[in-house]
Amino acid sequence: MTTPESGVLYLCATPIGNLEDITLRVLRVLKEVDLIAAEDTRRTRKLLNHYDIRAELTSYHDHNRRSKGENLLEQLAAGRNVALVSDAGMPGISDPGEELVLEALSRGIPVVPLPGPSALITALVVSGLSAERFVFEGFLPRKNKDRTERLTELATEVRTIIFYEAPHRLLKTLEELLAHLGDRPACAARELTKRYEEVRRGTIGQLLEHFSSQAPKGEFVLVIGGYSGSRKTVKEGQEYRSLTPDEQVRVLTGEGMLPNEAIKKVARQMGVPRRELYRLLKTNKNRSRN
Ligand code: SAM
Repeated sequence: MTTPESGVLYLCATPIGNLEDITLRVLRVLKEVDLIAAEDTRRTRKLLNHYDIRAELTSYHDHNRRSKGENLLEQLAAGRNVALVSDAGMPGISDPGEELVLEALSRGIPVVPLPGPSALITALVVSGLSAERFVFEGFLPRKNKDRTERLTELATEVRTIIFYEAPHRLLKTLEELLAHLGDRPACAARELTKRYEEVRRGTIGQLLEHFSSQAPKGEFVLVIGGYSGSRKTVKEGQEYRSLTPDEQVRVLTGEGMLPNEAIKKVARQMGVPRRELYRLLKTNKNRSRN
C-alpha cells in the first residue's frame, strides 16, 4: 500500500523510549495522513519534530475519549485518514485506543495496524523467562478485593505472566505477588530502550529486597514465571499455596526436583527455616504411620 486509502484509521506504533525505534512505514503514514490523534500531543510533537513531520495533531486520551472519539469517527466517515498514536508503544495496549478501534470496526471503517515497539514484548524477550506461552495482564486492578481475586486466579497460571506497573506501586505489587504466587523466577524491566534501562532478574523475593533498598524509578514491566506445580497432583481447583507443606514438597519432587531442594524451596515460600520444615515433615510422617 503506497498511498493511504481514504477514511482509514491507522494504528501506529511509536517508540517506548529510544526515538530510533520507529518503522519507515510508520514515518511515511504519519507524513501522509490528514490527522494524527495522539494520547499526549506534546510527546508526539517531539517525535514529529525529530523526524521533521509537519502534521495536524489532535489529542485523544482517557479523559476526552468519548467526545473526541465521536469527532474522529465522523472525520473518518467523511473520508479523512487518521493515524492513532499512544504515549508510547502500540496503541490499544493498556491505553484508550482499544475503544476507538472497536467503534470504528462496528461502523465499517477500515483499521490498519502498523506494528512496532511494545513494552510487554520487549520485556518478555529479554526476561530470561519462557516466551513460548505467556499472558499479558496489563495493570493489576486498583481495588484490594479485585487485586486479590485476580492474583488468586493467577496462582496456578502455567504460562509466563506479564504486568505493567508504575514505580510508586511496585513494592506493594511485588509483596502481593510473593504472597499469592510464591517466590518464583521473575524479571523487572525498567526504562526499556532509555538511558537508564535496567533488566533485573531473580525471584520475586529478590526483586522485592532489591527495590526495598533502592527506590523504584521509571516505567516498569514485571515478567513472572508461570506456576510450575504439576496440575495432575494438585486437586481440581485447589491452589498450590493452599496445599499442606507435605503436599507442596510432593508436587515439586513429582516434577523431578530433588527432595532437599524441594524442602528448601517450600521453606523459603513459607518463610520458615529449613530445619523447622524438616521437623514438621518428620512429625507428620510419624503421625501418619501410627
Ligand atoms: N501502549 C504501550 C505499549 O504498547 O507498551 C503501553 C501503554 S501503558 C499506558 C504504559 C505502561 O507501559 C507503563 O506504565 C509501563 O508499565 C510500560 N512501559 C511503557 N514504556 C516502557 C519502558 N520504556 N520501559 C518499561 N516499561 C514501559
